[in-house]
Formats: sequence, structure tokens, C-alpha cells
Amino acid sequence: MHTTYAPISANDFVKKFLKENPSWKEEKIRESLSKAAFHFFQGDSCECGNELWVIGSAAVGLSCFQCITGNETPSKDYELEEVLEHMKRRTGRHIDTMEPSEIDGWFDDAGYELDPVETTPEACYGCLFMYSQDEDMRSFCSLKRLDQVLYPGEFVCERFRKL
Ligand SMILES: [Zn+2]
Repeated sequence: MHTTYAPISANDFVKKFLKENPSWKEEKIRESLSKAAFHFFQGDSCECGNELWVIGSAAVGLSCFQCITGNETPSKDYELEEVLEHMKRRTGRHIDTMEPSEIDGWFDDAGYELDPVETTPEACYGCLFMYSQDEDMRSFCSLKRLDQVLYPGEFVCERFRKL
């Protein structure tokens, strides 16, 4: 898959982009980048069916790497670091290609299965409830962690209890 992207932060990308495209306003490229990221996390795809390339989409509109560059795979092309972090959490399986009996986990909005270990925030390992056998507690924790994966940001859990 997209393993040959090079990670770039939103700020570094904006700086670099403005240097190369001095006619753009900073506000405009920031807005365009966050729109592209939003659509990626929402699971929207390119017209051809491939996943969006967020960095490229910020500049030219919502499309995938192949449609934008004409190349099959990226080679050190930039992609937003949050997007690459997210891709690492995927197991590689897609809901459309799985047997119904195998479908029993978390999926992101694009339909990719997520690895429960990769999607557990570090803070959880220091929390009393991480090891709870209580059904309600377990499902609360599970939903909370899924939330964190789909809407990344600082992890805040109202039920956190230090071990
Ligand atoms: Zn495409």
C-alpha cells in the first residue's frame, strides 16, 4: 500500500507550499488542506474509487495519487503525518473483501479494519479500567478508543483512573 510516502506536518506543508506557490493565500491553502483531510477521514474516495491523497488534494482538489500525478505509487511524495499515522493502524483488510463471519472489530469510515492494539491510546495502559472485566465498562472503553481514532486530538477520558 502507500508505504513510500514521506510524512509532513500541516504547518511544514503550508510553509513549503506557499514558497512554491506565492500567489496562494495562507488561509486558502490551510482551508483546502483541512477540507481534504476531513474528506479522507470521512472515507470519501477519488472519482476512480481510490483513496484520496490529502496533500495533493489540498492543491488541486479531491483526488487520489494516481489521478493527480499519473504515477502508480508514491516515491517519497509527501502525505500528511496524521494520515500516515492512521494508515499504520489498519490491519490491511477491508470490510468489502471479508467473509461476514470474520467481521467483528473496528473499521474506519473508509471500511478498513483497525488493529485494536495500534488504536489503544498510551494513557489506557495506566488506567484501572483498562483491565476491567465489566461488560459495560469494556464497551465504554472500546467506544472511547474508537472515537479517538476517528477524531484524533488530545486524549481526554472522563473515566480515567490512574492505576
Ligand atoms: Zn483517482
